[in-house]
Amino acid sequence: MSAPAASPQDPAVRSRGQSATQLLRRRIGDARLGELLGRVTLTAEPHATAPLEAPFSGEPVFDVPLGTAADIEEAATRARRAQVAWAATPFRARARIFRRYHDLVLERQAEVLDLIQLETGKARRHAVEEDLDVAINCRHYVYHGGRELRPHRRRGALPFLTASWELHPPLGVIGFITPWNYPLALGISDAMPALLAGNAVILKPDQQTPFTALWGVDLLLQAGLPPDLFQVVTGRGRELGGPLIRRVDFICFTGSTSTGRIIAAQAGERLIGCSLELGGKNPLIVLGDAHLDAALEGAVRACFASSGQLCISTERLYVEKRIYRPFMERFAARVRSMKLGADDSFDTEMGSLTSKDQADKMQSHVEDAVGKGATVVAGGRRRADLGPYFVEPTLLENVTPAMKVFAEETFGPLVSAYAFDSDDDLVERANDSCYGLNASIWTRDTGRGRRIAARLRTGTVNVNEGYKAAWGSVDAPMGGFKDSGLGRRHGVYGLLKYTEAQTVAVQRFMPIAPPAGMTEERFARVLTFMVGMLRRIPGIR
Ligand code: NAD
Repeated sequence: MSAPAASPQDPAVRSRGQSATQLLRRRIGDARLGELLGRVTLTAEPHATAPLEAPFSGEPVFDVPLGTAADIEEAATRARRAQVAWAATPFRARARIFRRYHDLVLERQAEVLDLIQLETGKARRHAVEEDLDVAINCRHYVYHGGRELRPHRRRGALPFLTASWELHPPLGVIGFITPWNYPLALGISDAMPALLAGNAVILKPDQQTPFTALWGVDLLLQAGLPPDLFQVVTGRGRELGGPLIRRVDFICFTGSTSTGRIIAAQAGERLIGCSLELGGKNPLIVLGDAHLDAALEGAVRACFASSGQLCISTERLYVEKRIYRPFMERFAARVRSMKLGADDSFDTEMGSLTSKDQADKMQSHVEDAVGKGATVVAGGRRRADLGPYFVEPTLLENVTPAMKVFAEETFGPLVSAYAFDSDDDLVERANDSCYGLNASIWTRDTGRGRRIAARLRTGTVNVNEGYKAAWGSVDAPMGGFKDSGLGRRHGVYGLLKYTEAQTVAVQRFMPIAPPAGMTEERFARVLTFMVGMLRRIPGIR
């Protein structure tokens, strides 16, 4: 990366980032931040704190307590107590609370957009996706969750003689460990079906983004959620993860693949279930017949939403050879013209990265690639003139397998472009990754798009959209193949994973045993005859 245009020590620069931070902070108010922090579960012991830094300016905003194993213990005790009455509450009464919550989340949107921007530095147009995600998931599970959770009649062992039901009682207390990139969506949307299914929740949000998650919990309480049902403990994951997993009945983790492996091992020790939503290296494919304007704008959104810090955003771009050059010329020009900024305008197309670590990682990936022969077609520079962690949206060509960007997740606004010859060539290269989270295909021939989609080894594929079509299809499963995860969110999968599956079978008229006077041998023959017949009777088999 070339030298930044201005130093973060430059007073003009500092004041721009600072004024954006101050504006957001003034609108939220320190009293409100303190009130939200009051929702964190803490024992009476003194707690160390760590400052939360606003990415727009690098300034410390508020000190956040570093929770301990004792806090997890306290949260688990409270949650377990509250869950008993909640599990006995009918679904309809639970859903009433979430109907109110849906409306509150939309009515109070402005406040949470300020919080999300303050904590993550993302552009406002990307912050709004989080608020809508919570409302969409809330609506879905309120209106469709009850149908999945109620007892379902199943075929019994013997027709007419056995009546069987499938039940889904709650597991108890569900633990959530979430990252900083989508603190509202990932902190709240996955927890709602757990609550609606009758569980209590303990959330450990990332230490960079506790306020947004606490805002979501605060609103739940305002909507009428019983106190203590949703516990939040702040602090460091490596210290709280073990104690949390030891006290919950299921752990839902969203974060990096390396941490996901640790979580899975700890869950395995206890034989509790886990779901893991992990990293990605997602391909976006432009077929030769694509509508180029739409594909180009779609690629901008798919690559640079939330400054590329989105698990389902695009880091690999495959363009059919016959349109590669014209597409790339226009795409590069569009990327160079993107509007970056530290502000609360919906017109801003990309905000800051969230931390120094993220900006440094992005820089190291670009430098590694350039050092090994890649070409920077657009972007490539840090932009300290905009804020300490700003980097330009960046487009690379001539990327080879020797470079980190080829296979490793950058989790930043960095995309590598490749030309492909045929569908077979494309499918092989798009699938050549240890990850398998999301993919996007642009074509006028949606039939061909769907045929290619079915050959991709990714949990979601969007045709003529980057990620929002599949992400927003909350009736359908969402998650990763391969190292991108285990289990699914959304739809019936995202609800029933928080429940036990129980079968209740009622035997009527006679037991499954020889009637009086019949020998076991004769009974075995009768049963064998009946089992053989069952396959031949439509409606019963
Ligand atoms: P991370 O794994 O470092 O941290 C995520 C969470 O885990 C944080 O709350 C952190 O405190 C906690 N944690 C860290 N170490 C832990 C440990 N040893 N035990 C228990 N908890 C621990 O991930 P990150 O870098 O903050 O987040 C970015 C990653 O998350 C990227 O790889 C991205 O692709 C992935 N992600 C995936 C999804 C998805 O839905 N698939 C969504 C968002 C982000």
